[in-house]
Amino acid sequence: MNTLHDAVIIGAGPAGMAAATLLADHQADVVVLDEQSAPGGQIYRGVEEMAARMPDLFQLMGADYARGDELVARFRTCGAEYRPAHAVWQIVPREDHHEVWASSAGRSAPLRARNLLLATGAMERPVPVPGWTLPGVMGAGAIQILLKSGGILPEDLVIVGSGPLVYLLAAQCLSAGARPTAVLETTPRGALAAALPLLPAALRGKGPSYLWKGLSYKTLLRREGVKLFHNVTDIALQGEVEVTDIAFTSRGRKLWLSAGVVALHEGVIPAQQIARALGCTHDWDPLQHCFRPRLDGFGNTTLPGVLIAGDGGGIGGARAAEHSGRLAAAEILFRINILNGEARDGLALPERRGLAAHLAVRPFLDRLFAPAPWVTAPADDVVVCRCEEVTAGAIRAAVAQGAQGPNQAKAFLRAGMGPCQGRMCGPLVSEIMATALNRPVDDVGYQRVRPPLKPITVGELAAVEEN
Ligand SMILES: Cc1cc2nc3c(=O)[nH]c(=O)nc-3n(C[C@H](O)[C@H](O)[C@H](O)COP(=O)(O)OP(=O)(O)OC[C@H]3O[C@@H](n4cnc5c(N)ncnc54)[C@H](O)[C@@H]3O)c2cc1C
Repeated sequence: MNTLHDAVIIGAGPAGMAAATLLADHQADVVVLDEQSAPGGQIYRGVEEMAARMPDLFQLMGADYARGDELVARFRTCGAEYRPAHAVWQIVPREDHHEVWASSAGRSAPLRARNLLLATGAMERPVPVPGWTLPGVMGAGAIQILLKSGGILPEDLVIVGSGPLVYLLAAQCLSAGARPTAVLETTPRGALAAALPLLPAALRGKGPSYLWKGLSYKTLLRREGVKLFHNVTDIALQGEVEVTDIAFTSRGRKLWLSAGVVALHEGVIPAQQIARALGCTHDWDPLQHCFRPRLDGFGNTTLPGVLIAGDGGGIGGARAAEHSGRLAAAEILFRINILNGEARDGLALPERRGLAAHLAVRPFLDRLFAPAPWVTAPADDVVVCRCEEVTAGAIRAAVAQGAQGPNQAKAFLRAGMGPCQGRMCGPLVSEIMATALNRPVDDVGYQRVRPPLKPITVGELAAVEEN
């Protein structure tokens, strides 16, 4: 506990690994905590294991996934202290450092950090449609986790949603030998026309490679004869015990499909719980309907000594995450007097160029895949807070009874007070209340996030007191 580390990084995805590697290369004392059992984050989850044990599947996952293997190998040998299976559940600000509490194997211990880098990535946007809480319905990311962590493939899969991950998942399943029954694309009619003015800018930098990838996935789906439905709305997932059917409308036609597993996906949004708990300022992004932390060009938040890199600072993808990780690391090296300002800026220059090249396509994608109104304004009878089973209608009724913001919604309804502590429903509750109150979402604000940020047992807490 007594060691005051130069930096503690939370998250061993591309951003955290890239930052740790640069810091360690400069002899900084850095510890990386991650709740997963191996490095890689979301995109490169299970990459070492798959490369070693399932080489055929590893090949089929494509070059983007294979890149993770190199990144992980470099991180493993960089000299940073890596602590896998450590879930950070509380951070306590002290006078000149932060105390970071992580739980591992049922025990919790604190670390002291002069600088704290949050590289905790993104989460899938919740997709509140009737029946989304049925067993067998999951996020597209969950299917990827099954695939990447164990080579497990779902049968009778219907993929529903909008955004690059929809096509990527379908292509990954196909490559791995599991043909999805259908892909139901929910991108609204008119989205492409609205995004087209942004296309010329998207063709700069690395933009064409992203657009090309997207097109090649769609071509693969067509070539393989996967059923594609467009402009899908009015989705209802049905089943007595688990999901068995999906009803929907596509281009005005009411349709129905049977489904064993349904993957829902409406894009990813920054994971904000830790930054929120610390009190970092966030701003509402009206296009992507999510909060983003307010950052400067190095990833500094509004709190001294707290930085954010990667998708947690705004969605940019894995390669952008690496660049932003190294930018944050350069800033930390400056703060701990290993680099002077000039050297920091010199290191930052190529990272900024790389970041800009990878972000060039984002405005186009963000516009094209902006969530449809039904995603962010669910019908009254749809459950919004899954943990406490609170519907959108109950939240609107609480507003009618005088609730002025998400913290009052907690008192009225317990929305956001279950095991996930509002991680899933938080942004939705804010937006539903803001609409009902006819006020800006920034004004209405967000649920106050309290520890434990990850569930821990009372026994573990009690043991902490005894230490
Ligand atoms: C479910 C999902 C699937 C995705 N799949 C793809 C894909 O296949 N291809 C693609 O290009 N992009 C994908 N993305 C986007 C992709 O994750 C990012 O662009 C990229 O991984 C961002 O890197 P990062 O380092 O910012 O975060 P991540 O890679 O997400 O890494 C964040 C890390 O932080 C750790 N962490 C978070 N909270 C805590 C905590 N409290 N305590 C300890 N550790 C913590 C997590 O375990 C994770 O390892 C996906 C995103 C999501 C949410």
